[in-house]
Amino acid sequence: MELNIFHMYPDLLNLYGDIGNVTCLKKRCEWRGIKINIVDFSLGNEADINGADILFMGGGSDRGQNIVYSHFLKYKNDVSNAIEDGSVFLAICGGYQLLGESYIDANGMKIPGLGVFDYTTESEVERLIGNIIIKNKLGLNPQTIVGFENHGGRTYHDYNALGSVVVGNGNNGKDELEGMIYKNCIGTYLHGPLLPKNPHLADHIILTALKRKYDIKILDVINDDLEYAAHEKVLELYSNGKV
Ligand code: GLN
Repeated sequence: MELNIFHMYPDLLNLYGDIGNVTCLKKRCEWRGIKINIVDFSLGNEADINGADILFMGGGSDRGQNIVYSHFLKYKNDVSNAIEDGSVFLAICGGYQLLGESYIDANGMKIPGLGVFDYTTESEVERLIGNIIIKNKLGLNPQTIVGFENHGGRTYHDYNALGSVVVGNGNNGKDELEGMIYKNCIGTYLHGPLLPKNPHLADHIILTALKRKYDIKILDVINDDLEYAAHEKVLELYSNGKV
């Protein structure tokens, strides 16, 4: 078995080590004997999005987003078709914002998004920064997903959320919701090593892609006790007011 991961704009959208998510997917597949091909999709290195089993897009500064959007817009139909067709897509922060209608940056400048989804994002002066804990709505066990967020943008939408906020801000700091889910596409503000910290989410992504391509129903188990013990510890510290 093999999976093709398209890493979208790795040179321009890679804040806080978002690339670690691709490494995590690759390693967890390789440990199970699943071959991974990584395509670094960017300006001057385009490829047929039809060939992607998993698309990953990280976050970026307003500057990075500004460089990416006009190029990315040319792929609106391809990206939209891939999502409708059930390709797996994980879009983080700036990537999540760019799948919506538009992003109004910190200077009030409107950066058009692909409009695959009908939400808009508007930046405010005060950035939403810090550790974040959510309870996922994907039915994953454990329920916690932990991460780090740093965004000026506030996103409001009517899609299903990835989770409800336990600690932190999420989509907008107001409605206590984080991220979005549509078919096999997940948008989230959780940056950096999201998947290494949340192996259940990494395996959800891998299994979803494998189910779509092959008749695979379960994955070989990897021991992630340490990661889940960390989830419990961080929940305990936050609920005791120690952090
Ligand atoms: N530039 C966007 C914002 O500030 C996205 C930031 C990011 O990807 N961390 O909201």
